[in-house]
Amino acid sequence: MDELKGIIRDIPDFPKQGIIFKDITTLLSDAKSFHRMIDLLAHRYVGEKIDQIVGIEARGFILGSALAYKLGTGITLVRKPGKLPYKTRSISYELEYGSDTLEIHEDAFKPGDKVIVADDLLATGGTMAAVVDLVQEFGAEIRECAFMAELEFLNGRQKLPEGKVFSLLKF
Ligand code: AMP
Repeated sequence: MDELKGIIRDIPDFPKQGIIFKDITTLLSDAKSFHRMIDLLAHRYVGEKIDQIVGIEARGFILGSALAYKLGTGITLVRKPGKLPYKTRSISYELEYGSDTLEIHEDAFKPGDKVIVADDLLATGGTMAAVVDLVQEFGAEIRECAFMAELEFLNGRQKLPEGKVFSLLKF
């Protein structure tokens, strides 16, 4: 795991002063690391009945689609406003400054569907908490929120359903 962690690159003061941005592109572009990361995550759910992976725009699509392919499921996209072509449901949530909105197609799930929500990194947890609410509105069941990496000092998992958060690499 330390080997995978070491491949993620720190970019200080991006996108603004004081933030240390975890640049996962270095892990994605390294064949051995990318395959290992996806295999380790997928292994966790092999043999389970999962109905759908949900990927959060944009880096969540990368992890989400690879995971969906491995597990033999489809992937449902959660996107920024105005990007999805069919009728949508949306959710707005607070950011440090201002707010943001995410959308999903209104026919995304059936009640009782078991889903894994995938994103690249768990920071404050605000984004994932909003998506969890959105998914649960359909009566779908969250199997787990899955991340490549987690910034533990931000305690983002406190905003998410207890016992339903998994991150591969902890910082
Ligand atoms: P949050 O809602 O705070 O958990 O973070 C939302 C999204 O912002 C995550 O999906 C990450 O893609 C991105 N993000 C937040 N903080 C960082 C960081 N320090 N490095 C890289 N990505 C980040």
